[in-house]
Amino acid sequence: AAKERGKGRHAVYDARLEQDQAADAQLGAELRQALDNGDFTLVYQPIVSLPDGKWTSLETLVRWQHPERGFVGPDVFIPIAERTGLIVPLGDWILRTALRQAAEWQDVFGSGAPAEIGVNVSARQLREPGFAADVRAALADSGFDPEKLVVEVTETAVFDGGVALDTLQNLVTLGVKVALDDFGTGHSSLGLLRTCPADTLKVDKSFVDGIGGRSEEAVIATAMIQITNGLHLQAIAEGVETAEQAETLYRLGYRFAQGYHFSRPLTPAQVGERLEAARVLAV
Ligand code: C2E
Ligand code: MG
Ligand code: MG
Ligand code: MG
Repeated sequence: AAKERGKGRHAVYDARLEQDQAADAQLGAELRQALDNGDFTLVYQPIVSLPDGKWTSLETLVRWQHPERGFVGPDVFIPIAERTGLIVPLGDWILRTALRQAAEWQDVFGSGAPAEIGVNVSARQLREPGFAADVRAALADSGFDPEKLVVEVTETAVFDGGVALDTLQNLVTLGVKVALDDFGTGHSSLGLLRTCPADTLKVDKSFVDGIGGRSEEAVIATAMIQITNGLHLQAIAEGVETAEQAETLYRLGYRFAQGYHFSRPLTPAQVGERLEAARVLAV
């Protein structure tokens, strides 16, 4: 009977898997279509210095407006784009569009433009043999300064092994900066910090959420700022939603933060308006 049940369970599992694969294939085809149709857009979320809230950098985040399903979040479609390989052309489009946009803000606003632009790069992209060369070509085409590009990668993507580390090293040689994203949530060890050429740790929102009081998260957030300071890395606290969290982070030693408390992700037009308003104030 156990065997029967086991069989049944497998049948259900297989059916689900097939269904998932079918759904994946369907969405994968739609992603391809979306890239051709120009249905992806980019928004930019400021990273600010503490305590003044001044913009130091903008993180590029991709958005998909599906013709029938409406808005589909990157948490849903990026994993599918990774599995289907579409992340490679999509990622190239994201990088080139972000660099072109950042170069334009640089031209228009000069030193009033944020110093850096961040672009998320997935594990699949890091494993592409020609990835560093593609980044170099995209930088050259945009005329944007490599030192002002920050590539955000997760520790899990880097932990994958030698190829990813070699790619990161090649990027660093170009002058590009590396940030470890969602730090503390992956399955890596702190030893990664010795081998990974990262400049910045983005401390995950889950640690920021529980930062008030004597929570475990507060203890971890404190340890993380000590590690980053000791290793001469920069720490950015992610997902800061309240003034109280921002104050606590500052007290713990954090000097950079990102989150809805400071700004939601903004459209290019909104970024332009804010930069324009700041320029008018500065005159
Ligand atoms: P991430 O790189 O860690 O990006 C931060 C996410 O947290 C963004 O979600 C942002 O909108 C959200 N966020 C920022 N501040 C707050 C806050 O105060 N509260 C809350 N609740 N959320 C906040 P988003 O845009 O939905 O992106 C989700 C994830 O999808 C990203 O996490 C990243 O892993 C991936 N992703 C987004 N854009 C790209 C991209 O262009 N390429 C790749 N490969 N992955 C991307
Ligand atoms: Mg990121
Ligand atoms: Mg993050
Ligand atoms: Mg995240």
